[in-house]
Amino acid sequence: MINLAELRKYSAELVDLHHTLALMQWDQEVRMPRRGAEERAGQFATLSALVHRREVSPELGALLVEAEAQKDGLAVEELALLRVMRRSYDQNTKLPEEFVAEFSRLTSQAQMAWLEAREQSNFAIFQPLLERLVVLSRQQAEYLGYAVHPYDALLDLYEEGLTTAKVAGMFAELQAPLVALVKRFAGRLTPLVFSEPFSQVGQEQFAEHLLKAMGFDFSRGCLARSPHPFTTTLGHHDRRITNRYAPRSLDFIFGALHEGGHALYEQGIDERLARSPLDDGVSLGIHESQSRFWENVVGRSRPFWQRFFPELQQAFPAQFACLGFEDFIRGINAVTPGLIRVDADELTYNLHVLIRFEIEKGLIEGSLEVAALPGAWREKYRQYLGVEVESDADGVLQDIHWSHGSFGYFPTYTIGNLAAAQIWEAYKRYDPGFARTLAEGDLAKVREWQGREIHSHGSIYLPEELLVRVTGSPLAAGPFLAYLEEKFSTLVG
Ligand code: ZN
Repeated sequence: MINLAELRKYSAELVDLHHTLALMQWDQEVRMPRRGAEERAGQFATLSALVHRREVSPELGALLVEAEAQKDGLAVEELALLRVMRRSYDQNTKLPEEFVAEFSRLTSQAQMAWLEAREQSNFAIFQPLLERLVVLSRQQAEYLGYAVHPYDALLDLYEEGLTTAKVAGMFAELQAPLVALVKRFAGRLTPLVFSEPFSQVGQEQFAEHLLKAMGFDFSRGCLARSPHPFTTTLGHHDRRITNRYAPRSLDFIFGALHEGGHALYEQGIDERLARSPLDDGVSLGIHESQSRFWENVVGRSRPFWQRFFPELQQAFPAQFACLGFEDFIRGINAVTPGLIRVDADELTYNLHVLIRFEIEKGLIEGSLEVAALPGAWREKYRQYLGVEVESDADGVLQDIHWSHGSFGYFPTYTIGNLAAAQIWEAYKRYDPGFARTLAEGDLAKVREWQGREIHSHGSIYLPEELLVRVTGSPLAAGPFLAYLEEKFSTLVG
């Protein structure tokens, strides 16, 4: 019988260090004065280097080898701890220190260049840095290793086990049906336009009200403001979210539901996993399934708003008193092919992701040159979405991901959308009276089911394994396409 106490202690200290880094990041995005930026960058560099050293230490390597030699008889959770720690140890040690330093230096320069390029809508400012980032990312794939395609190594960083072939298969199933659905429903639902601004206080109060109704636990989390909404974990009992507030947009509602979905996942992890690397959502794709579930599947549904629309009207009479319920539901689901991924509706969203997947695959395998990127972008937007890209700012420069050196991240958004629909089917089997459950505002019933089935397990099961346990089948496009077909044909009537 082996003793995992040493390994647990080591990993708990690493978790403490990562939560400390998360606190610094939270502070930087929510509260830090502008002139604190330079020193903060130095603090990040110092602490990250110390953490990295502990993550690749021979001591940790030896603890892992010792534990792996005597795996028989370990419980599922202990095996999962070994798997997760081995995975991050290998990822960290496969990359030479000079490479890590060079990558982090380059991404910090690239982010500044990307911001400037986007402001001026001038791709040429970003191009040389992106070229170097692509070279480094290819090198990263070589260091990490892959079976078939170099892009596999990068995909696996964000979604364990994901490959280029799997993503290609997923889009092969999605593309034609999605294009057909967009053709049928684009322009058939009238978007909402607000002439009266929403007060910021009112938006914050309503967002908080929705979060409470979902079951976000304010004694174990908080809501703040930031330019880009996000969710972060500072400890097992400290899961925080941010939201943004614009005067004439409903982002405050859907941002809160989205980040709330991420936070429910984190808050729902079993307490016995506290201070362990398993105290975390299992992958980006599964995480996104939880946020999209609340934002779209629940949050843009008719029964949900049967409960909350009267309250919305009461909170904002100038905007909603004269708006009919049906017009509201159609408005929040309007389908409009556009240029910007983050503003996309449920039908067009994954076509934006498909474009990024094809481009990233091309860049990493070398079939697409960075210099040809703006042209390739325009061509694909014309072809898949039927829109003309007028400027690089609204085109190839719109997302921050590449400036972070994140290639392989985008497909997890589509995985999240597909998984959300699949999980919704499983929920409906559990609760055939789901429409009434939502209309009565009994969101606890939904949350508790998700908690049992998904949240409580943290990272114990692999993403695919978890999905099969919850839904009975691996990730598939069918449930998502069926969900869209039923939803939009009902909406259009
Ligand atoms: Zn998200």
